[in-house]
Amino acid sequence: MRELYADVIVDISHEKLDRPFQYRIPEKLMDILEIGMCVTIPFGNGNRIIKGYVTSISDTCNFDPARMKEIAGLGEKDVSVEDKMIALAGWIRKNYGATMIQALKTVLPAKQSVKQLEHKYVQRLIGREELIALYGECERKHQTAKARLLRELLNQEIIPREWITSKLGISASTINSLEKAGAVRVVSETGYRNPVRVKTKEEVPNKLSVNQARIVTEVMQDFDGGERGSYLIHGITGSGKTEVYMQLIQEVIDRGRQAIMLIPEIALTYQTLLRFYKRFGDRVSVMNSTLSPGEKYDQCERAKRGEIDVIIGPRSALFTPFPNLGLIVMDEEHEGSYKSEAAPKYHARETAFEVAKLQDAMVVLGSATPSMEAYYRASLGEIKLFELNERLTGGSLPTVHTVDLRQELKEGNRSIFSRKLQELLADRLARQEQSILFLNRRGYAGFISCRACGHVMKCPHCDVSLSEHGNGQLICHYCGYTEPKPKICPQCGSKYISGFRAGTQQIEEKLKEMFPRVRVLRMDADTTKTKESYEKILSAFANGEADVLVGTQMIVKGHDFPRVTLVGILAADLSLAAGDYRAGERTFQLLTQAVGRAGRGKLPGEAVIQTYQPEHYAVTYAAAQDYQGFYQEEILYREMLGYPPVAHMLAVQIYSQSEERGTELAGYLAVRVRNFDQNILVIGPAPASIGKIKDIFRFVFYIKDTEYNRLVSVKDMLEELLKSEKYPETVLFDFDPMNTL
Ligand code: ADP
Ligand code: ZN
Ligand code: ZN
Repeated sequence: MRELYADVIVDISHEKLDRPFQYRIPEKLMDILEIGMCVTIPFGNGNRIIKGYVTSISDTCNFDPARMKEIAGLGEKDVSVEDKMIALAGWIRKNYGATMIQALKTVLPAKQSVKQLEHKYVQRLIGREELIALYGECERKHQTAKARLLRELLNQEIIPREWITSKLGISASTINSLEKAGAVRVVSETGYRNPVRVKTKEEVPNKLSVNQARIVTEVMQDFDGGERGSYLIHGITGSGKTEVYMQLIQEVIDRGRQAIMLIPEIALTYQTLLRFYKRFGDRVSVMNSTLSPGEKYDQCERAKRGEIDVIIGPRSALFTPFPNLGLIVMDEEHEGSYKSEAAPKYHARETAFEVAKLQDAMVVLGSATPSMEAYYRASLGEIKLFELNERLTGGSLPTVHTVDLRQELKEGNRSIFSRKLQELLADRLARQEQSILFLNRRGYAGFISCRACGHVMKCPHCDVSLSEHGNGQLICHYCGYTEPKPKICPQCGSKYISGFRAGTQQIEEKLKEMFPRVRVLRMDADTTKTKESYEKILSAFANGEADVLVGTQMIVKGHDFPRVTLVGILAADLSLAAGDYRAGERTFQLLTQAVGRAGRGKLPGEAVIQTYQPEHYAVTYAAAQDYQGFYQEEILYREMLGYPPVAHMLAVQIYSQSEERGTELAGYLAVRVRNFDQNILVIGPAPASIGKIKDIFRFVFYIKDTEYNRLVSVKDMLEELLKSEKYPETVLFDFDPMNTL
């Protein structure tokens, strides 16, 4: 007779997650039992009946079959938050591929023994007028850090010390000297586990504009009518989206429910948080990567006990176990950081829809440049779309100049700065206004292009750029197609065909050659190893300590710089030619955001986009700040080539210590998939775009299908196969991947 065994986790108070117990599956449950289900089991010496969760099922028995106990029955389902979290883990495991343990660890915070933590605060001791006088004095003496802190203390009498040092980039010695002068004191409290507590005055919320109010009314009408809808607010930065989110959160709280506010980690600034604290006081809490596991655990406990109504945080905040969740808001929903990079590689947007379904909540997405996924769903009517078109903060959209770099070369300019950009930079320096130079290296994978005609070497099968791969070969990272690197351009015969090599450092040097007295700040992976250095550079620039900020994509996010009136985008093509199907979308988003950085204040702004492909639709629509136009063209491309969101794609990634074994396994698995379903499209395998990291070789193949579920069943088949054939290689699954690996 067939025997089946189940691993059961008996206690999800988390320390024991690593240790499931094996039970025999009784005949009557054989065909019913699934991973993630709740069961009752006899436990311990007294065989007390308790509740457990199935984490895996197999036909091998791990210890003496004679002593193995049997599952008693099925447990009740979906009663507590915990059960919903388990169900969610089951859904994540199924849809993204991972073990149940990995999925459980994703949704449940690790229980930690808790240290008494000490929190320090800086409190202001002097009155408003005295503070303003002191602030003026510091400004005159150019003590910018001191002045900055005083300015913050004007709005806020007490500020966590950690915020001041890390977020505002103000040193301990600055705080000390203000303490000596009697202006502030440092107070400490122990045992208080709310990571950010700001004592705030009640703030009267802004009266919503007609358009804002309409969104709130419509959404809450649905909610009160029992509908749990999904919504997308498409609106440029400063159009009042956050104000709408806050009002919706308030409405939900008024109905006895709680809310999750998702924000990309990088946008989780003090300013943003402060707005929420001012509105919701100590009923709001924050979850971020700098919290210790103990603090994270505490946040979850507080949420469970009903001590908070709102949690703000990056994607993991989605798993906050509120007893009565009503709303999930996801700001900047197009951000790539919403996708997990570790297994299970879940996307917070899709997972948010599932959380909302399980917990009877609604989902509100917001973005200035919505993802193709969200907008596509809106076009299908699955998401209700709202537009906010006016910028409430004043400032106008900048004038955009698109410079054709091929023309520059033709006319003898070989510099990385076009003549237009040089001219405008000189003008800004003369007028003492600030500029940002943006080098778009995101997703850059060593593509080859012609500087004379702009021709980019592409894969004839996949329509993505080929990358340089050592030994003079070009390779496609989807299908593995290779061809030799050409010596002259196949299009125009020019010998100026090569990769793009300039980095931010080189740009800084060239800038100083042109303008010897220019003050430059540089921001890239090298200068921002820590989070503090990132904030420090931004606040130094905001303080006017430099004329030009040079940086990679990280400078286009977050912070507002009202004195920036010029943005130069040095090579729009770098991200355009990234070897994956999202290149156009990402370029459009980055260019739109970058252009939008100029002219946020009272002074009008200008932007220069330098490109070899001025006619590319991602460039022209970004220059015109025309989202709809871009979407219409991009969705046609996705439809034509069967890329998400129109179809779906699964990347199977193989990591091996041996190049030979990796190649072999990748090939074998691809064949198994082809045999499993003749109608499914398998592309590759190919070496990954970064073929080797730390001596581990990486291979990948892709599977495309219009039905997501068909990809899930391929994944299930492969998981089973890998479990029974036990390879030393690591195999990971990535559904609708955000990046080529
Ligand atoms: P977004 O989230 O779209 O960038 P915000 O909600 O942050 O926009 O709004 C931009 C600015 O406009 C903020 O300073 C905000 O306080 C202000 N604001 C938003 N809505 C209103 C309103 N109805 N009345 C007055 N000011 C508003
Ligand atoms: Zn050419
Ligand atoms: Zn290809």
